[in-house]
Amino acid sequence: MNVEPKTLYILAPCYNEAEVLPLTSKIFLDKLNSLITEGKISENSRVAFVDDGSKDETWNIIESLHELDPKFIGVKLSRNRGHQNALLGGMSTVAEDCDMIVTIDADAQDDVNAIDKMVDDFNSGTEIVYGVRASRETDTFFKRTTAQGFYKFMTIMGVETVYNHADFRLMSSRAVKALLDFKEVNLFLRGMVPLVGFKSSTVTYDRAPRLAGESKYPLKKMLTFAFDGITSFSIRPIRFITALGGITLILSVLFAIYALISYFVHNTVPGWTSTVLSIWFFGSLQLIATGVVGEYIGKIYLETKGRPRFFIEKYLK
Ligand code: UDP
Ligand code: MG
Repeated sequence: MNVEPKTLYILAPCYNEAEVLPLTSKIFLDKLNSLITEGKISENSRVAFVDDGSKDETWNIIESLHELDPKFIGVKLSRNRGHQNALLGGMSTVAEDCDMIVTIDADAQDDVNAIDKMVDDFNSGTEIVYGVRASRETDTFFKRTTAQGFYKFMTIMGVETVYNHADFRLMSSRAVKALLDFKEVNLFLRGMVPLVGFKSSTVTYDRAPRLAGESKYPLKKMLTFAFDGITSFSIRPIRFITALGGITLILSVLFAIYALISYFVHNTVPGWTSTVLSIWFFGSLQLIATGVVGEYIGKIYLETKGRPRFFIEKYLK
């Protein structure tokens, strides 16, 4: 008995990717066509680009790709909402039309050949397949160490993520719909997807350098992303601060005893150094503590407003 092949959408968010799209759209289409020929996915499968409010020619390129081959489709967000929102906006738009979605960066740094194994896993009943990077040789030393430090730090902070997995993954449309039930506006997909559950697996691949154009993730954006990831997923920083408060309290009691004893024994005049040091030390501790608490209040503020995460301006299909 032959089972009908399922429909795959390869979904790539694009922000000012006019330079790279002409190259990578071909890579994605070739992969899609070869999977169709092998009978692994249905004829209705598509390559979908999500234009995240690009300021360059990106949307025009998507439109002309669509003219050229209807296997290319496009979703246009009403403005730039960032990588994570673009992914979610795109997935929510196409979820009804397909059985599985592979999300991949538009620069094709992730190896499209890993999609074969992802689809195989899906066809044997897995609903989420995480693409995991085998090595980071193509990254600069700086990007490699900061990125790996990020994953380790996330684990220490109690955020469950898949090590060395970014946003290259396959999700069944059922898993995508489950993901859409998470109503948070502070999106950190690689922390949210594991919370969905269902049967999952991993596929390892090597990551290539960007084909053209520049990285849209400079250090500042990377740090914001890491910080957002932690504060959206874990209240451990607050606990650390409470613990730190406890420890400094014990220390200051010990110090008080020492100070009292030396006062009575040596009749010392209280020193300038210790006074100034403690003002600075506790001053900075308090500032940090207030800042961290404020960060969470900020998050609550954004969540209570419950603003829409994206608007779809066009769906070209
Ligand atoms: N991206 C996006 N919106 C943004 C920034 C980036 O949709 O505001 C997309 C970008 O077009 C690319 C992906 O997110 O497809 C990853 O970005 P990039 O390749 O620049 O990041 P890097 O690989 O350097 O971490
Ligand atoms: Mg990239």
